Amino acid sequence: MRPLAAPRTLAYAGLITIATWCGGEAVADVHAVPPSATPTVPPAQAVVGEGSAAKRAAVHSVDLHAAELTALSDRIWAYAEIALRETRSAAALADYAEKHGFRVQRGVAGMPSAFVATYGQGRPVIGIMGEYDALPGLSQKAIAEQSPLVKGGAGHGCGHNLFGAASLGAAVAVKEQIAAGRLAGTVVFLGTPAEEDIGGKIFMARDGYFDGIDAVFAWHPADKTQADILTGQAMVDLEVEFHGRAAHAASDPWNGRSALDALELFTHGINLMREHMRPESRVHYTIAAGGDVPNVVPAYAKAWVWLRDAKRSEVESLLARTRLLASGAAEMTETSAEIKVRGGSWEVLLNEAGTRLVDANLRWLGPPVFTEQEQAFAREIQRATGVPELGMATGIKRVEEQTEEGGSTDVGDISWVAPTLNLSVATSPIGAPWHAWPVVATAGMSIGHKGMLTAAKVLAATMTDLYERPDALAAVQAEFQARKGGVVYESYVPDGPPPVPND
Ligand SMILES: [Zn+2]
Repeated sequence: MRPLAAPRTLAYAGLITIATWCGGEAVADVHAVPPSATPTVPPAQAVVGEGSAAKRAAVHSVDLHAAELTALSDRIWAYAEIALRETRSAAALADYAEKHGFRVQRGVAGMPSAFVATYGQGRPVIGIMGEYDALPGLSQKAIAEQSPLVKGGAGHGCGHNLFGAASLGAAVAVKEQIAAGRLAGTVVFLGTPAEEDIGGKIFMARDGYFDGIDAVFAWHPADKTQADILTGQAMVDLEVEFHGRAAHAASDPWNGRSALDALELFTHGINLMREHMRPESRVHYTIAAGGDVPNVVPAYAKAWVWLRDAKRSEVESLLARTRLLASGAAEMTETSAEIKVRGGSWEVLLNEAGTRLVDANLRWLGPPVFTEQEQAFAREIQRATGVPELGMATGIKRVEEQTEEGGSTDVGDISWVAPTLNLSVATSPIGAPWHAWPVVATAGMSIGHKGMLTAAKVLAATMTDLYERPDALAAVQAEFQARKGGVVYESYVPDGPPPVPND
């Protein structure tokens, strides 16, 4: 295992006493405790009641800033900047934070579009993450039929314009309560770029920007509203390269050793391995290089492979087996194999105490309420994409009802560094394709705005709980330590700066 990068930057040094990680070997076997195996959170922990004065004021703050937050979200939607190029989007959020009195560090962890905004002092230190990267090729107008705004342009097909604006809205709401003396402690907004690519959070965590944070929040646009209790999938991203010897494919093929032969045997091995993997495991690959012309024995071939499972321990096991497949394929073809791990992420470490707290605030505030016109807009999208015409979700999914879906996020890594509380809010029609034009369309109009403002209020309310109720924060932290079970977080990203494009 690669040792931890050291020394770490202690981002909040001077504000608080920091317990930082120690380096060394990561424990390979990660056994996340299923939700049912942990003691049930006593009902008192999740009680919201009428809400304290600070909580009501924090929620009111989101209403007061609703127009500004909506404009901020729409600006980022229009910028539609992809991973590591989201500099104007980051600047829009950072400027807004600065205007509201936050101390802002821009361009952190080697990424021009990463920033940290801090307000207050002392503990608790409550963090909140905001994403703002778009996806290439998904440009779309805010209308109910597929129509690009900019031909070939990018679009917010994961709704991250809403993500960034709502999270910052919640951070500002909490800041105002600290400024008014209703809450004591520090609030940190982490502007986390490139979720759709390298996972900016992982580099920020590696460089210490999450150290000393007592609990951290995230949310995500969705087609449903719920306090999340889902692990997602751990993932590792690797390149497998084969090196052989070129020769004329007709006149002296005996002098050649085909790297493509090795790659074919390797992918055949992957596909046979599928029968002997756990049902939750996923392996997908592309052939990134396989020779140039048929009359040259290919000296070089490359596969790009992703391995996923609900647990990092299984991903580690798949990685070990993939290494064997590559070396076996190389041996059979008298070529050589090289494996480069490009990155990866951990599964989300559940925190049921945190989920119950988010759920209580979500139920107190209620899900977004959509008009008949908005429901009709959603149904029109569903008709256009061939999914059942169910409109927008109007309820709140119970914690017990949630089921895992495939996918990985760099929030997973953070959940092993600090207790992480997650929320999903409906911003897109039920069942409509994700990472696709419907998500862009609704993220740029009233449906997305409503989801964004609901998210900001629920996050602000739950953050307030953690400042006002040491028992609630202690329960979240105790569960974090218990589930982590001594595992030392170690990121999959290689040492050195993140691969930021310099054009
Ligand atoms: Zn996303």
